[in-house]
Amino acid sequence: MAASRLAHRALRQDIIATARRMNALGINQGKSGNLSHRIPEGFLVTPTGMAYERLKPADIVAMRFDGSHRGTRLPSSEWRFHRDILAARPETNAVIHTHAMFATTLACLGREIPAFHYMVAVAGGDSIRCAPYATFGTEKLSRHALAALEGRKACLLANHGMIVVGPNLKKAMWLAVEVETLAAQYWRALQVGKPRILSKAEIDRVIDKFKTYGQAKEPAPACC
Ligand SMILES: [Zn+2]
Repeated sequence: MAASRLAHRALRQDIIATARRMNALGINQGKSGNLSHRIPEGFLVTPTGMAYERLKPADIVAMRFDGSHRGTRLPSSEWRFHRDILAARPETNAVIHTHAMFATTLACLGREIPAFHYMVAVAGGDSIRCAPYATFGTEKLSRHALAALEGRKACLLANHGMIVVGPNLKKAMWLAVEVETLAAQYWRALQVGKPRILSKAEIDRVIDKFKTYGQAKEPAPACC
């Protein structure tokens, strides 16, 4: 039904703009990433196998938490982890998944990103974990992702990519760029030597400072 496809039109347009921005910023490869946003009836998610440049608002798929969907397009093959994250994390409204180059490089080595830089704390703790490998689109991958995101806003997926979550698309996008930047910095540091890792106590201190430091409440200018 045309009327139901056009519900949440502004949000659908925002999802498309964010998807295109993800590729323009170079943090995703082709059609490999996907993103979602909560709506009262469930969530909106990008369709499977469509180039972002071709997307129109009606192509964004409306899904319910029971896995059913409306519209003519099929949802992203990764709709399960979008659904499961949104269901498990009520503070989260937006989920972004990308195959960003450096985050994916570390994920292919099965390496988490430790607290080599204080900005690792923006993901919520003293590391950005790497979830074990599981086949794309499976419940197993979704379970691994949820565990790696426990108490965090970002994780890597072994031999695959990364996931970030946020209260809205803008903040999730900012975090995706930040995680990719940290991955690139960590990768470079590893080429030269053994990065020094900050203690959990120091990262806890940084997280506390983020709560009161004015700019930390909004996405940093580097992204937006
Ligand atoms: Zn993927």
